[in-house]
Amino acid sequence: MHFYLLTGIVVGFAASILAGRYGRNVNFWFVVCFIFPPTFLVLLALGENQECMPDMQNQAQAMNEYTECPYCAERIKKKAKVCKHCGRDIPPKEINI
Ligand SMILES: [Zn+2]
Repeated sequence: MHFYLLTGIVVGFAASILAGRYGRNVNFWFVVCFIFPPTFLVLLALGENQECMPDMQNQAQAMNEYTECPYCAERIKKKAKVCKHCGRDIPPKEINI
Protein backbone atom coordinates (compact mmCIF):
# COMPACT_ATOMS: atom_id res chain seq x y z
CA MET A 1 0.00 0.00 0.00
CA HIS A 2 2.84 2.36 0.84
CA PHE A 3 4.48 1.64 -2.47
CA TYR A 4 1.25 2.30 -4.29
CA LEU A 5 0.80 5.62 -2.51
CA LEU A 6 4.37 6.65 -3.33
CA THR A 7 3.89 5.74 -6.99
CA GLY A 8 0.71 7.78 -7.06
CA ILE A 9 2.42 10.85 -5.62
CA VAL A 10 5.45 10.60 -7.92
CA VAL A 11 3.36 9.97 -11.03
CA GLY A 12 0.90 12.64 -9.92
CA PHE A 13 3.67 15.21 -9.64
CA ALA A 14 5.16 14.23 -12.96
CA ALA A 15 1.71 14.47 -14.54
CA SER A 16 1.04 17.90 -13.02
CA ILE A 17 4.36 19.22 -14.38
CA LEU A 18 3.64 17.75 -17.79
CA ALA A 19 0.05 19.04 -17.69
CA GLY A 20 1.39 22.51 -16.95
CA ARG A 21 3.68 22.34 -19.96
CA TYR A 22 0.84 21.12 -22.13
CA GLY A 23 -1.42 23.93 -20.96
CA ARG A 24 -3.81 21.54 -19.24
CA ASN A 25 -5.49 21.51 -15.83
CA VAL A 26 -2.63 20.78 -13.41
CA ASN A 27 -4.79 19.88 -10.39
CA PHE A 28 -7.05 17.62 -12.40
CA TRP A 29 -4.18 15.59 -13.83
CA PHE A 30 -2.43 15.37 -10.48
CA VAL A 31 -5.52 13.90 -8.82
CA VAL A 32 -6.33 11.56 -11.70
CA CYS A 33 -2.77 10.21 -11.90
CA PHE A 34 -2.57 9.95 -8.13
CA ILE A 35 -5.68 7.77 -8.01
CA PHE A 36 -4.86 5.81 -11.14
CA PRO A 37 -1.17 6.24 -12.22
CA PRO A 38 -1.56 4.59 -15.66
CA THR A 39 -3.59 7.65 -16.65
CA PHE A 40 -0.19 9.30 -17.04
CA LEU A 41 0.11 7.48 -20.35
CA VAL A 42 -3.19 9.02 -21.45
CA LEU A 43 -1.79 12.48 -20.72
CA LEU A 44 1.32 11.62 -22.73
CA ALA A 45 -0.83 10.39 -25.60
CA LEU A 46 -3.01 13.50 -25.52
CA GLY A 47 0.01 15.77 -25.72
CA GLU A 48 -0.42 19.50 -25.90
CA ASN A 49 -3.78 21.07 -25.32
CA GLN A 50 -4.92 22.08 -28.79
CA GLU A 51 -7.60 24.36 -27.40
CA CYS A 52 -4.92 26.34 -25.66
CA MET A 53 -2.76 26.86 -28.71
CA PRO A 54 -5.13 29.00 -30.80
CA ASP A 55 -5.53 31.20 -27.75
CA MET A 56 -1.82 31.92 -27.70
CA GLN A 57 -1.87 32.49 -31.43
CA ASN A 58 -4.74 34.93 -31.01
CA GLN A 59 -2.75 36.80 -28.40
CA ALA A 60 0.25 37.04 -30.72
CA GLN A 61 -2.04 38.14 -33.52
CA ALA A 62 -3.65 40.75 -31.29
CA MET A 63 -0.22 42.12 -30.43
CA ASN A 64 0.52 42.44 -34.13
CA GLU A 65 -2.82 43.87 -35.08
CA TYR A 66 -3.11 46.52 -32.41
CA THR A 67 -1.27 49.73 -31.73
CA GLU A 68 -1.72 52.68 -29.43
CA CYS A 69 -3.56 55.79 -30.45
CA PRO A 70 -1.01 58.65 -30.40
CA TYR A 71 -3.64 61.00 -28.96
CA CYS A 72 -5.53 59.09 -26.28
CA ALA A 73 -3.19 56.08 -25.87
CA GLU A 74 -6.06 53.63 -26.17
CA ARG A 75 -5.48 50.35 -27.97
CA ILE A 76 -6.70 50.51 -31.56
CA LYS A 77 -6.25 48.39 -34.66
CA LYS A 78 -3.22 49.19 -36.78
CA LYS A 79 -5.45 49.34 -39.84
CA ALA A 80 -7.70 51.92 -38.21
CA LYS A 81 -7.68 55.35 -39.81
CA VAL A 82 -9.85 56.91 -37.15
CA CYS A 83 -9.53 56.23 -33.43
CA LYS A 84 -12.70 54.68 -32.06
CA HIS A 85 -12.01 56.12 -28.63
CA CYS A 86 -11.25 59.78 -29.27
CA GLY A 87 -12.40 59.99 -32.90
CA ARG A 88 -9.21 61.60 -34.21
CA ASP A 89 -7.56 60.71 -37.51
CA ILE A 90 -4.65 58.35 -37.18
CA PRO A 91 -1.60 59.33 -39.26
CA PRO A 92 -0.29 56.47 -41.42
CA LYS A 93 2.64 54.65 -39.84
CA GLU A 94 6.07 55.20 -41.30
CA ILE A 95 7.46 52.09 -42.94
CA ASN A 96 10.10 50.30 -40.93
CA ILE A 97 13.08 49.16 -42.97
ZN1 LIG B 1 -7.60 57.96 -29.65
